[in-house]
Amino acid sequence: MRRLGESSGIERLAAIRDEFRWDIAERFEHRAKTCSSCETPGACCLDEHFVNVRINRLEASAIRKAVGEMPDDVRSAIGARLERIDHDAEFYACPLYESGVGCLVHETAKPLPCIAHACYERPEHLPPDELLSSREREIDRLSRQVYGRGEPLRPIHTALR
Ligand code: SF4
Ligand code: SF4
Repeated sequence: MRRLGESSGIERLAAIRDEFRWDIAERFEHRAKTCSSCETPGACCLDEHFVNVRINRLEASAIRKAVGEMPDDVRSAIGARLERIDHDAEFYACPLYESGVGCLVHETAKPLPCIAHACYERPEHLPPDELLSSREREIDRLSRQVYGRGEPLRPIHTALR
C-alpha cells in the first residue's frame, strides 16, 4: 500500500467527512428534530451514560490539529474537562462540547458518528448503519495508509491524551 503523509491524510479525511455530512443533511436530517428547538441542548454530547464515540488515529490527529489552532483559553478549558474524565471511561461527557457554543470541532474535525447522530422520532427515519460503517471503513483504510498499520478505535478523551 502506498504510504500517505499525515497532512494529506487529514485533507482526505475532511473530504470524506464533507461528503458524509452532505449525504446525511440531504437525505435524512430533515426528518429529525432540529437542535435549535432542543430542550436539552448538548445532552447528546454530555451524557456520561450515553456518549461512547470512538475514533481512529487519523481522526484523533485531525481533532488535535483543530484544537491546536484554538485560542489558549479554549484549549485550557478542553484540558480541564479532559482531566475530569476517568482514563478508562467507556462512556463520557465529551470534552469538546463547550456550553453556549456547542461542538468545538463541528466545522473542522467532527467524528462521523456525531455527524450521523440526530433525534429522530421513528427508527425508519434514521440513516442506515451501513452508510456510516462504509465511510468508517474508508477512514480506516486511510489511517492505515498514513500510519502503516491498523489501530483500535479509541474514545475521544483517550485519543486526545
Ligand atoms: S441531537 Fe437531539 S439531544 Fe442533541 S442537541 Fe440535537 S435535538 Fe438535542
Ligand atoms: S465531538 Fe462534538 S458532536 Fe461529538 S460528542 Fe464531542 S462535542 Fe458532541
